[in-house]
Amino acid sequence: SEHVVIVGAGQGGLQAAMSLRTEGFTGRISLIGEEPGLPYQRPPLSKAYLKTGAADALTLRPAAFFEKHDITLVTGTRVDSIVRDTGHVLLGSKTLGYDHLILATGTRNLRPPIDGLEHALDLRTLEDAKRLRKELDRPRTCAVIGAGFIGLEFAAVARALGHKVTVAEAAQRPMARAVSSPIAARFAEMHLQMGTRLCFGQAVKEVDETGIHLPDGEKIDADLILLAAGVRPNVELAQAAGLPCDNGIVTDAQLQTADPAISALGDCAVFPDPRTGRLVRLESVQAATDHARTIAKRITHGTATPYAAVPWFWSDQSDLKLQIAGLAFPEDDCIECENGSVLRFDGDALTAAETINNPKVHMKARKILALQAPPGRDTLKRAGYDLTLI
Ligand code: FAD
Repeated sequence: SEHVVIVGAGQGGLQAAMSLRTEGFTGRISLIGEEPGLPYQRPPLSKAYLKTGAADALTLRPAAFFEKHDITLVTGTRVDSIVRDTGHVLLGSKTLGYDHLILATGTRNLRPPIDGLEHALDLRTLEDAKRLRKELDRPRTCAVIGAGFIGLEFAAVARALGHKVTVAEAAQRPMARAVSSPIAARFAEMHLQMGTRLCFGQAVKEVDETGIHLPDGEKIDADLILLAAGVRPNVELAQAAGLPCDNGIVTDAQLQTADPAISALGDCAVFPDPRTGRLVRLESVQAATDHARTIAKRITHGTATPYAAVPWFWSDQSDLKLQIAGLAFPEDDCIECENGSVLRFDGDALTAAETINNPKVHMKARKILALQAPPGRDTLKRAGYDLTLI
């Protein structure tokens, strides 16, 4: 029978296996992951898990699930290479044949050229989070490199637990790659109110066991340093197999790579944004799971429906829940609404809605963005940019 091999047993890899079965795929499924243990969710690693330490709550499906659905889960095992000519993957000294291969290899922490970086901890895997939690069991002075989502979520938890926290960021504002400046300002204000020190325009170049050195000459003392300066997609397997990569494994609108027998999904894939056709790579649970569903449909039914899901994302920092619906590019216009949300526009087209503690507007934005012909800017303006009135 047909055999689908999935490389990477994270959020997207697991979803691909599950969706193949729900779509009615009757062939063999092998899900191979480098990390030990059952597939788990990462978002709580920088949120609830750091507070509670409840690792079991992270598990996505129990062991019995894999048996019940005839999914062969192989963990603690790395796929070393792909032999495309014969349709095999190599795992140590073993080989495994495939009819279809799904690359769901995710990302790893970016380790920029910073002297002494061995003194900094990562926050990507459950193992990383376990170590950090242990470090936080006594009063700490923390320095965080990077004011992205993960750095700031960690900062919020560490501060709430009573630790001292300084965040150093190369850009002039937090979450600069992902959110508009009014939203970034709201979050910066909240972190300052919590007593966290924020240092912007400071690309850290040196770290030692006593803290971090800012480029302006200041030394920030710290006995816990977290590196949260972004990630790199795991493309090496695909690259070595001759598949085109460009800050991710390049796929078409069907999430298929240049080789029709190989698909890629989630954090490691770049795919054409349905609205603009621009190649994008998204780091979100939504993208990983919706990609997986699209690929599973194609493999099972042979249908080639282009991927068109509306992107969405969230980040919890202290009592602020950020939600983003849609996908804005940095040059998109930015309209601040009375309800505190920010709408992004490309010309007449709504591209994204950024909300804080407003799930109603977020859900409405997702609905509007999914429409074949969404209302244009003038219509939204007449409603006072209140999406709930549309
Ligand atoms: P992953 O879930 O990362 O899985 C990839 C897996 O592939 C890994 O387990 C890796 O070990 C394995 N692998 C790699 N290479 C090989 C190989 N050669 N052989 C075998 N296995 C291999 N997203 C949100 O939407 N909201 C959030 O609030 C949020 N918070 C986050 C907080 C943290 C701390 C982190 C780290 C991420 C967060 N994310 C969040 C991002 C989200 O977790 C990812 O987008 C999602 O997990 C991507 O799924 P994936 O399947 O592409 O990759």
